[in-house]
Amino acid sequence: MDFEIPKSTRDITNRIRAFVEGELMPLEARYIGSGFKEMLPQMAEARAKVKALGLWAPHIAEARGGMGLSLTQFAHVSEVLGRSPLGHFAFNCQAPDVGNMEVLQHFGTEAQKERWLGPLIGGEIRSCFSMTEPEMPGSNPVMMETRAEVDGDDYVINGRKWFTSSADGAAFAIVMAVTNPKADSPYLRASQIIVPTDTPGFERVRNISVMGDPGDDYASHAEILYTDCRVPRSNLLGAEGAGFVIAQERLGPGRIHHCMRWIGISERAFDLMCARAAGREIAPGRPLGTRQMVQQWIAESRAEIDAARLMVLKTAWRIDKEGAAAARDDISLIKFYVAGVLQRVLDRAIQAHGALGMTDQTPLSYWWRHERGARIYDGPDEVHKSSVAKRILRTYGMTQS
Ligand SMILES: Cc1cc2nc3c(=O)[nH]c(=O)nc-3n(C[C@H](O)[C@H](O)[C@H](O)COP(=O)(O)OP(=O)(O)OC[C@H]3O[C@@H](n4cnc5c(N)ncnc54)[C@H](O)[C@@H]3O)c2cc1C
Repeated sequence: MDFEIPKSTRDITNRIRAFVEGELMPLEARYIGSGFKEMLPQMAEARAKVKALGLWAPHIAEARGGMGLSLTQFAHVSEVLGRSPLGHFAFNCQAPDVGNMEVLQHFGTEAQKERWLGPLIGGEIRSCFSMTEPEMPGSNPVMMETRAEVDGDDYVINGRKWFTSSADGAAFAIVMAVTNPKADSPYLRASQIIVPTDTPGFERVRNISVMGDPGDDYASHAEILYTDCRVPRSNLLGAEGAGFVIAQERLGPGRIHHCMRWIGISERAFDLMCARAAGREIAPGRPLGTRQMVQQWIAESRAEIDAARLMVLKTAWRIDKEGAAAARDDISLIKFYVAGVLQRVLDRAIQAHGALGMTDQTPLSYWWRHERGARIYDGPDEVHKSSVAKRILRTYGMTQS
């Protein structure tokens, strides 16, 4: 593994950083104050500029209209974009669309790609991923109640989902539903099915209020009710019963995107904390940074962010070289480690700002509200810790689960 970032990658991240700082950061206060829908005209303008600069959809192959970056290169880009809450959206590599694009690329039929992937890559439509259910444990999704039953040439879907991020305004959902309840392995019972959001029986019940913010449009998490929701069987992604296999494929690269975004947030919080420590006088002529407690926050944050980045880049490099299955442990390790670093750095940065840290005059409180979930979504930290530890202990001879 080479520690030097290639010049070609640095050139790209420098250009993207200039755009994030010059074009997107000035929009943040308005977004945090007014919501995402208000921002749609400005975001459309920003997206047009990104396209004109040739920086659009960095994760997508050039032949399909993207930049064709490797996962490791995209990891660096994702960090830079993470410095602003608007970064990934402006470059059309925002979750959950980024994962849905990857799934459609790998598992979609030609007809599915034409109808859904093309417009998604072009930024003409958005999508969502609908797996978690309010009454069932998302940490153990094989316990899923939503059913998709075959009726002639159709699937008929019934069930209730929640935390379907970005469903508000999405053109379609990829829904996880049980299609093969009698399959021997519980991991072969569910399938992923494309459901256009204007299908009768698809009802967005509400946007769920998260830490006091119901959000809107792209920046929201919805409860969805599926009632006799009928879609053609040709909307199945991959093989019937392969829903969890596909989900696993999606999660490997997806964790790299999330973790590098979290590192970008941590770096911005770090910058804000250091500027505050250097500039805020807490006694005549004595800035906050003269206090050892604050010095420790800064040193610990620097070490934790650097360690986190090295872990994520090593994982991305391994996925690029050997595939997601070989990097399974690394993927679990970065998920909980980086989510923890993000939360500790944000907490210290808020503390260093005093009352200002609680206001919306910096993006810190926005991230505090919306990234507390980092330790929960994409698999709760505890599940990742247990599964890595069990695999390690097996190599020491432990056979009990
Ligand atoms: C901001 C946000 C966005 C989301 N976006 C989406 C989305 O777009 N689509 C989607 O389908 N879902 C989404 N989710 C849902 C997310 O995937 C689930 O919340 C997650 O999988 C956990 O499931 P649960 O909430 O049902 O918690 P539960 O499964 O009920 O678990 C609750 C808690 O129990 C503990 N726990 C669980 N299992 C174990 C264990 N084995 N050992 C020890 N402790 C354990 C953990 O601390 C866990 O947080 C999102 C969630 C959030 C917060």
